[in-house]
Amino acid sequence: MNDHDSEKVAGVLLARGYRQVETPEAAKVILYNTCSIREKAAQKVFSRLGELRPAEEKLTAVTRQPLAGEGTQDNFGKIEHLALAVREGAQPGIIPQTARDGAAVAVPQESRHPSQRKIVNAGGGKIIGVLGCVAQQEGEGIFERAPWVSLVCGSASYRKLPQLIAELEAGNRRVTGLDTDTDETFETEITRRDNPWRAYLTIIEGCDKACSYCVVPFTRGPERSRASASILDEVQQLAEAGYSEVQLLGQTVNSYADPSARKMRFSELLAAVAEVRGIRRVRFTTSHPRDFGKDIVEAIEAHPTICDHVHLPVQSGSTAVLRAMARTYSREEYLEKIALMKAARRPIGITTDMIVGFPGETEKDFEETLSLLDEVQYDGVFAFKYSPRPNTPSLKMADAIPEEEKGRRLAILMDRQREIQRVRNERTVGETFEVLVDGKSRRENQWSGHTSSNRVVNFTSPEQELLGDYVQVRVVSAMPNSLVGEMVGRV
Ligand code: SAM
Ligand code: SF4
Repeated sequence: MNDHDSEKVAGVLLARGYRQVETPEAAKVILYNTCSIREKAAQKVFSRLGELRPAEEKLTAVTRQPLAGEGTQDNFGKIEHLALAVREGAQPGIIPQTARDGAAVAVPQESRHPSQRKIVNAGGGKIIGVLGCVAQQEGEGIFERAPWVSLVCGSASYRKLPQLIAELEAGNRRVTGLDTDTDETFETEITRRDNPWRAYLTIIEGCDKACSYCVVPFTRGPERSRASASILDEVQQLAEAGYSEVQLLGQTVNSYADPSARKMRFSELLAAVAEVRGIRRVRFTTSHPRDFGKDIVEAIEAHPTICDHVHLPVQSGSTAVLRAMARTYSREEYLEKIALMKAARRPIGITTDMIVGFPGETEKDFEETLSLLDEVQYDGVFAFKYSPRPNTPSLKMADAIPEEEKGRRLAILMDRQREIQRVRNERTVGETFEVLVDGKSRRENQWSGHTSSNRVVNFTSPEQELLGDYVQVRVVSAMPNSLVGEMVGRV
């Protein structure tokens, strides 16, 4: 979600006539987008801001640097750095891909955009801003610690970004967007999309659950859903622009509540998106077990375009720990949701998130988490050591688990899951899957892509151009995290 927020923020700036550049030196606007789910992100942001103190010779080029984290899921705990400069006359509209992986497009050093001449903000001629969770948590305190920062904006206020940037361009020294009690969603006319085939779409923002370890309800505010018609219009536009896969996003995507008179349920929305002409794959993440029902499984069964993959975070296999986490379901209730998927007419890949070392987690609780792995047989697990976060109820809970013990449990869990995945993946040898090709190796004839169930497949094909195509790949061998295959045809 954080990545997609950055895509939308970049889109807002592109629409105002900015474009991405290679280095901070060339930039007129430098924004940090942060996620503080687990890490000491605030500390890291201030250290990065230190590098941007207006002694301009100290500036270094940084683009999209993931921070070291315990988990393997790549969209959390990241600071993203967008370096942007001004140019004349960008037109609103969906821009497919202008730059991948933070590699920026060139920009003329000289710009005659009128707004550029007016910038007199705190960053020595540059707009330096902090966005996301750390902005929300630290608020105006950021100005005190880094007086060269001129923009602080939490994710619940991104809607205001164009106005905030306009105020800075007009000469305001400092601006903030820190409301979380907003009922607005962040819809933009233009989003700079980094993946040319898969487009992300936030359908619900914020979170109304109150898991005792989680900062999201504080940093992203309450749940706000987008109107179904607006979502479907955007999917239509994306299909027309050439995207064949869409991924619907939300912290609890299946808690979607259509605010319009149409009152579409999440499963109905999924089905409607699946029917948009040109869309070949529909993904959605993250689902909350409480709001996961049979209707979603039925939608997957009825629409081959809806991918056969569900990410259903469990967090722990122990009902006692789930209660302490305020997850609103027991182990047994969670397993009922799993049973719905296992009974589906086509196999559904299931992945999850888990936290080890939550305060008070006993050895027996941890063993229940391990036995859940055996019982569910997940296709992938993102496992994290519990990390105490500001403002969260679990911060004050007794019986903290030492870091070393958390590390031990994490290693045991990951070993157990690796073995489960090795066995599961080996069973696919000989099967043929439809793969969307999204990578080309430097080695000749080597390609990679994803199956509908989101497995990574590395395969051989003598074809010259396959990127963005859907092909049939037969699996010839398997590893715990990927399959190896050979292309046997086009789809
Ligand atoms: N809303 C989703 C849900 O309920 O599962 C996930 C949101 S969160 C951004 C992604 C994952 O980060 C969570 O599923 C959880 O495993 C992990 N996480 C969140 N807070 C954490 C914390 N304080 N310590 C460790 N892991 C945490
Ligand atoms: Fe955080 Fe829980 Fe909301 Fe997920 S459901 S974002 S873990 S509070």
